[in-house]
Amino acid sequence: NQESAVSTASAVAHQQQSSAHQTVLKLDQVRKSYRTNEVLKGISFQVRAHETVALLGPSGSGKSTLMKCVNLLEEVNDGQIWLGGTDITDPRVDRDHCRSRIGVVFQQFNLFPHMNVLKNVTLGAIKVHKMPKAEATDKAMELLDRIGMKSKASAYPDQLSGGQQQRVAIARALMCDPELLLLDEITSALDPMLVGEVLEMVSELKSRGTTILMATHEMSFAHDAADRIVLLLGGIIAEDGTPRQVMDESQNPQTKEFFSHFR
Ligand code: ADP
Ligand code: MG
Repeated sequence: NQESAVSTASAVAHQQQSSAHQTVLKLDQVRKSYRTNEVLKGISFQVRAHETVALLGPSGSGKSTLMKCVNLLEEVNDGQIWLGGTDITDPRVDRDHCRSRIGVVFQQFNLFPHMNVLKNVTLGAIKVHKMPKAEATDKAMELLDRIGMKSKASAYPDQLSGGQQQRVAIARALMCDPELLLLDEITSALDPMLVGEVLEMVSELKSRGTTILMATHEMSFAHDAADRIVLLLGGIIAEDGTPRQVMDESQNPQTKEFFSHFR
């Protein structure tokens, strides 16, 4: 009996350990204001390993602010953000190291116009993260090959379509094998014809197990591809659930109102 109690206790400990391990990102009561404008009013949610979480909300609801807090481009006023086991809002934390654990792609202006594709993809890894140049080049070529862009390694950004540029930006974000990929409206500036190829790449990453938090207005993609939807309304999380729970079944009038604009 004692033996089984011990093994139960160790199973529980193991479970707690592995479930703690599975939380890649955790926000706990995060508050963020710009002067008197309180944008995030106590935000708590998690992203677990291999999950794709779509962060939805109207323009100005704070999606980019939230992402910037996670990427340490903005400081929170209160609350904590955990990346794995690290409280990245702790002032003593090594901010550059935390950033190196997160890949980020923005809506636009991701690539340096005066550098070719290969240089764009390798630069940060070499300069900021001190990856040896040969290793960075190999890794970049492998990533470019994966997205069918190897033949464009010496092309300049203005010789690429917007969709190709965003795919290169995603490849760059993957260079240091990030624990978390932040995608902030990466298709919003694209010609509608080019949105599909970028979303397809996101699906491909998801199928490979990449952990993704993406702000998007692509509702059908969010519905079909995301594991969870987090809906930001008025500075708080109005919804956190499966696409079906949030987009199809929610009885919250504000949630219904938000999604009615996309039907
Ligand atoms: P979203 O990405 O959901 O469109 P944002 O996070 O960009 O929303 O903006 C949320 C709010 O914060 C808006 O009211 C915006 O005007 C304000 N805001 C964003 N960035 C700044 C900034 N750097 N300085 C002051 N206000 C900002
Ligand atoms: Mg934004």
